[in-house]
Amino acid sequence: MPHKSPFQLDIPATDVLTWLFPPGSTPSDKPIWIDAVKPEENHLSPRQLLQWVKRLGVGLDKLGLKQNEAVMMHSANHIFVPVAYLGVAGSGRVFSGCNPAYTVTEVAFQIENTGAKAILVDPTLLEVMLAAADKLKFPRNRIFLFSDHECQPVDGVQDWRTMLGSYQEAERWQWHSMSRKESQTRTAVLNYSSGTTGLPKGVMISHQNIIANVEQSIFMRNLEQPYKSEAERPPERWLGFLPLYHAYGQLWSISAACKTLTPCYCMKAFNYTEFLKHIQNHKITHIQTAPPIVVMLAKRPETAQYDLSSLQNILCGAAPLSKELQNEVSDKLKLKIVQTWGMTEVTCSCLHVPGGMDDRSGSVGYIDPGSEMKLMDDDGKEVKEGERGEIYVRGPNICIGYWRNERATNDSFDEEGFLKTGDVAIRNEKGWYWIVDRKKELIKVKGFQVAPAELEAVLLEHDHVADAAVVALQLEHEERPRAYVVLKDTAKGKVSEQDIIAWTAKQVAKHKQLTGGVKVINEVPKSASGKIQRKVMRDWAARDRDAM
Ligand code: AMP
Repeated sequence: MPHKSPFQLDIPATDVLTWLFPPGSTPSDKPIWIDAVKPEENHLSPRQLLQWVKRLGVGLDKLGLKQNEAVMMHSANHIFVPVAYLGVAGSGRVFSGCNPAYTVTEVAFQIENTGAKAILVDPTLLEVMLAAADKLKFPRNRIFLFSDHECQPVDGVQDWRTMLGSYQEAERWQWHSMSRKESQTRTAVLNYSSGTTGLPKGVMISHQNIIANVEQSIFMRNLEQPYKSEAERPPERWLGFLPLYHAYGQLWSISAACKTLTPCYCMKAFNYTEFLKHIQNHKITHIQTAPPIVVMLAKRPETAQYDLSSLQNILCGAAPLSKELQNEVSDKLKLKIVQTWGMTEVTCSCLHVPGGMDDRSGSVGYIDPGSEMKLMDDDGKEVKEGERGEIYVRGPNICIGYWRNERATNDSFDEEGFLKTGDVAIRNEKGWYWIVDRKKELIKVKGFQVAPAELEAVLLEHDHVADAAVVALQLEHEERPRAYVVLKDTAKGKVSEQDIIAWTAKQVAKHKQLTGGVKVINEVPKSASGKIQRKVMRDWAARDRDAM
C-alpha cells in the first residue's frame, strides 16, 4: 500500500497569479526581493512586482507570443527574475531558465528544445547568447537585454524595458484565470533534468504543481513549530543565492517568498565570503541550501570570521548530506538543519523534516500532505518497512511529463501514475525516510545535475575517441564526473588523458567538467542490447578511487 501523509491540505485550484494575488486583495508594499549588495536602492514589493508582471504580459501580447509558447531566460539572479518567471507563466506562456554558466552549444540546445519564441538575456552573457542564436538563425529582435538596470542596445539587441507595456496598459491588462483542470494541464515552467536516464529534458511543471508544492513546503516548515500558523510565524529574512533557473531557487526565493511575504536578499552569484557577509549584515534567519554550502560552513576558516548568530535554520536538499556533517554544523552554529528530498520532476520537493523538529539522524523527513509514496524492489514489488526500495511518488506536485518527449514521459511513470525517481530510500515504521542510494545515471556536482549521456555524446565528438562512458567518482562529501574512454586505433600515443579533460572543459559548463579524471580502457562494458553497464562502471570508479 502506498504511504500517505496523515495530514490534509487544500490546494487552491487556480493559476499562479490568481493564487498569489487573489481577486479583491491588495498586494503588499513590503520589499520582498532585495538586492543584497544595494538593499536601499534596489528592491521590489509584491505590488511593484505585479505592475511589472502586467507590463510584461502586455509586452508579450504585443510581440505576438501565443499562449503556451516558451520564453527563455539566460541570466544570473537579480530582483527582476521573479518578474520574468511570474510574468511569462502568469500570462499563459512557458518560462524556461537556462544556467548562466552554459556554453554556446548548451544554450543552443535549450533554445531549440524549448522552441523559445523570445529570449531574456543578461548583458554579461550576450556574447554566448548571440553565438547560440546565430547558430539557430534566431531573430535578434526577439532577444532582449535583461538586467536590473537600464541598458543601451548592443548589436541590435534592445533592453527588455522597450518591449514592456506602459503603466496605463498594464492597469487594463488582466491575466486569464484558470480552472482546476486548466491549472493541472497547462505548463507554466520548463526546468531541465535528465530524469533517470539519457539527455536533459524539459520537465513540464503546471500551475497546479507550483501552487501545490509551495503550499506543501510551507505546511511542512510550519509543522511542529511553537507558533500555530503562517500568520503567527515570527519574521524571517532569507538569502536568495540558489539559482533561479532551478526549481529549488524558484520555489523558495520567488513563489514562497511572495506567498509568505518574507524578505529575500538576492545574490547575483555565489561567493562564500559575500554569502557570510550578507548573513551577518542583513541578519538572515533562514537559508535554503545544498550540501556543498554545509561543507563550507564546517570546513572553511572564514566561517569563524563573521557573526552568523542571526541564522536559526538551514533547509538542506539537492544531494546527500551525512548526519555527521549535519550535526557538526548544527552544533557549531547552534542552529537547526532540516533535510528535504526532491527533484525537478516533483516541482521541487516531496519529503521534508518538519520545520519545528530537531532531527539528528540524517533523515529527509516524511511525506508532504497530498502525496503518496511507495518503495519498490527491482522486480516491481513494494518493499517492507526498513528495507531499501526505489521511491515511486504520486501527487499534485508531480510534473505533467517531459516536453515534446512522450516516450520519456511514458517510461517515467508506472501504470498507477507514480513517478519512478531513481532514488533509493528506507522508510521506518513512523514514516520517516532516509535516502541510501541513487539507482539512476545522474551525477550531482555541487547540487547541479550532470547527465552522463550528455558528456558521453560530447566525448564521442572528440576526433580520437571511439567510445566513452561517464560515471560518478564518489568522494567523502562530493561526486565528480569520471570518464572511461576507448581511443580509436589511429589515436594511440597521440592524445593523453589530460588532453581529453582539457578539450572537454571547453565544450561544457564548469560543473560538468571531468574533475574525476579520464581513464583509457579497451572496451566499454555493455549489455547484449548495447546499453552501458552502469553498475560495472560504478564498481570500476570505486576501485580506482580506493587506489588513488
Ligand atoms: P534535481 O532534479 O536537480 O533537483 O536533482 C534531483 C536529485 O538530487 C534527486 O533525484 C536525488 O538523486 C538528489 N537529491 C535531492 N535531494 C536529496 C537528498 N536530500 N539526499 C540525497 N539526494 C538528493
